[in-house]
Amino acid sequence: MGHDSDALTKYRRKRDFRRTPEPSGGRGKQRNAASARFVVQLHDASTLHFDFRLEAEGVLKSWAVRKGPSADPSDKRLAMPTEDHPLDYRDFEGVVPPGQYGSGTVIVWDQGTYTNMSEHDGEPVPVTEALAEGHMSFALHGKKLHGAYALTRFREGEDEAWLLVKRADRRRHSRRGHRPDPAPSRLRSVLTGRTLKQVAAGEGSRDRPTRRAGRRRQAGRR
Ligand code: MN
Repeated sequence: MGHDSDALTKYRRKRDFRRTPEPSGGRGKQRNAASARFVVQLHDASTLHFDFRLEAEGVLKSWAVRKGPSADPSDKRLAMPTEDHPLDYRDFEGVVPPGQYGSGTVIVWDQGTYTNMSEHDGEPVPVTEALAEGHMSFALHGKKLHGAYALTRFREGEDEAWLLVKRADRRRHSRRGHRPDPAPSRLRSVLTGRTLKQVAAGEGSRDRPTRRAGRRRQAGRR
């Protein structure tokens, strides 16, 4: 359909790939919906925020969530839509150089798969439709994030804005309780175990550090 290359025009237009280490984004392969992926990156840009990304339509649909996802269903987190990112952005961890769009350090804070749970009158709703309608329910299967969440658009147009909210899900709720959000400086990459500061300092970086470390970790845990 050529859909995904069109979807990435905005992403590519904002970046100079001779200067930023971010992926320029090949064509994304459509994967089956049962194993769609998500990533949450912590991005120490002009304003520190989390980037929440869900695989859909061959790209990563993206929202900037200043305070990050909450495990507390009563916390509504503002999620501002940003441009679609290429699928291989999922593993991007590093430093976007000064002067470049989104300059600052990025770590992969969480990663995993999600299950679309969107429905309307008891009928399942495909992801594309759910996003177009402005309400999507899904279950995250990450290393840090688990359980049901919902994204709901509450404002359209140029100021389009969404809310990311944990949905009450009895088991998790009672077992884990809700801890306050830890300081971002203490958060670590789920791929390499590094903090923002360590990534900024280039510690533990190799040729393709995130991918290798990520594979090793997954292999060891599953
Ligand atoms: Mn960002």
